[in-house]
This record gives sequence, C-alpha cells and structure tokens, in this order.
Amino acid sequence: MATNKFELITLPYAEEALEPVISRQTIAFHHGKHLQAYVNNLNALLVDSGFEEMPLVDIVKKANGGIFNNAGQILNHELYFGQFCAPKENNLPSGDIAAAIDRDFGSFAAFKEEFQKKGATLFGSGWVWLSADADGKLVISQEQNAGNPVQRGLNPLLTFDVWEHAYYIDYQNRRPDHLSALWSIINWQVVDQRYNAK
Ligand code: MN
Repeated sequence: MATNKFELITLPYAEEALEPVISRQTIAFHHGKHLQAYVNNLNALLVDSGFEEMPLVDIVKKANGGIFNNAGQILNHELYFGQFCAPKENNLPSGDIAAAIDRDFGSFAAFKEEFQKKGATLFGSGWVWLSADADGKLVISQEQNAGNPVQRGLNPLLTFDVWEHAYYIDYQNRRPDHLSALWSIINWQVVDQRYNAK
C-alpha cells in the first residue's frame, strides 16, 4: 500500500493560460502526467522509509536514490509551476528582487543573459536556478536531474526546467527559443515574495 502523503498541486492558472509560450497540451502532460507520476512514485517509496513524517524540503535535503529523485522533482515542479502568469509585454521584475538583481548582476539584461546561457548549456536533463544565500546575495546555478539549491542551503527563487518534457511538444530541439520565450510569463511578484520570505 502506498502512502497518500503528497498530492498533485493545483495550478494557479488555467492549462491554456500560458499560451503561446507554453501550450495547453504541454501543461497537461507536464503537470498531469509527469508531475503526477513523481507524486505517485514518492508516495509508494515512502512506505517504511523513515521519511513518512518529514516535510518535502527536508526529504530533498536528506534522502538519496529514488526517494530523493521523486521528492526533488516534486519540489522543483511546485516552484516552477507556481512562478508563471499569462504572457505580458515588457515583463520586468519590481520591488526588492529587481534591486537585488541590479546589485548582484549589474542589470536585468545581464542577469537574463547569464541565466539563459546556463539553461541552454546544461548538458542533459536538469534545471537552472536563481537562488539567494543566507545574506540575500543572488546566485545562478545549474542542477542536474532532480537537483535543487536547497541541498546547499540556498533559497530557490526562480527556475527554468530544461528536461525535454518541458518543451519538446512546442519547441522540439529548440531549447534556447523556449527559454527566451519564458521571460514573458514570469510572475515577478511570486519571485519577490520568495526572496523576501528568506
Ligand atoms: Mn519537468
């Protein structure tokens, strides 16, 4: 018997809300099939694991093997799906996160260029992240497979999923085109809230 500890998150928008940047079909598969499978797998693996009572983020920090892979992918996708909104023209950060980006990268344009380059050059499957350290300093990192910066004590703020399942229906092999389109659907209020939550 599997546990039923974790449930698939509800999206904070309709499946078609991110079109044309991410299609309804991609969201339906990515959220309804891929993320659902990670939830089902983790619930099954938790039985007699010693991790049954632990919050998700602590499982990601402490587990390894299959439990880590599935827990990491649940945390990663919850942050990923939670950071989007309908496409906006000239969609720019504001508030404390905007000031921190200027301070630590020189400008939003310079940040965007580095973030996108790290996403485009990550070999294989993984994630590119913007995180804050304990002092609020921003860092960009590439994480393989199910990796999350919380494993190194960082606060994850923004992420691009570069697993092929995130873009192949809409962009085929054109990962850089997918990444450059994502900037118009970032909900910067959510990123700013994460930054201020510490
Ligand atoms: Mn994914």
